[in-house]
Amino acid sequence: MRVHKTGARIARATVDLVIPTVCGGCGTPGTRWCVRCARMFADTPIELRTSVVLPVPAYALGRYTGARRRAILELKEHGRTDLTNPIGLALATALRTLDRWSELPGSTHLVLIPAPTRWWAARRRGGDPVTALAAAAAAELGSGVFVKPVLVTSSWARDSAGLSAPERGENLSGAVRVRRGADLAACGGAAVVLLDDVLTTGSTAAHSIDVLRRAGVEVHLVLVVAAA
Ligand SMILES: [Zn+2]
Repeated sequence: MRVHKTGARIARATVDLVIPTVCGGCGTPGTRWCVRCARMFADTPIELRTSVVLPVPAYALGRYTGARRRAILELKEHGRTDLTNPIGLALATALRTLDRWSELPGSTHLVLIPAPTRWWAARRRGGDPVTALAAAAAAELGSGVFVKPVLVTSSWARDSAGLSAPERGENLSGAVRVRRGADLAACGGAAVVLLDDVLTTGSTAAHSIDVLRRAGVEVHLVLVVAAA
């Protein structure tokens, strides 16, 4: 027992060294996720009008500025995987709100499809961050909510960082596909939500919806953490 306690204390100290104890959203010291950021992320989702017209409604937790932008960058670029749960929880809250608004036929029987994973992103430590966010949201919503990471981009699609919005659309155009051998059976009876971290032009979402439709899966709506 004594050995266990000491072990836990050492483990905690090691984590503290790796992850600075500052809020992943606003940088406030002494906490990894402050009450203000939690409240802001759980705020009413906003409906998006994308430059690429989508055949389904698209919502975001908010704009890609301030704490939202910082939290996404901390999660994706700086290994703050501790932010997966709080952001996933905020996505779950948004899905419940969208259910209340009748934008979804329920929030307890859903299929969450993460935006297409770049092959190199999935191989990183902790895996693809959007899939991890979807899993955290699903865990909050209950056992009837499934995550189906069935979309991938072909290996020739370059990293979109540093590309302009039109270039990004061009880069992904035609590169999105359904993973070989993907099990789409469970998508039949549940409302399907396409999830992503950041939405810019809506081009990736449009391609994803199209590719899924051709595979027999109708996306119900798009939900992203932040809209650029
Ligand atoms: Zn904060």
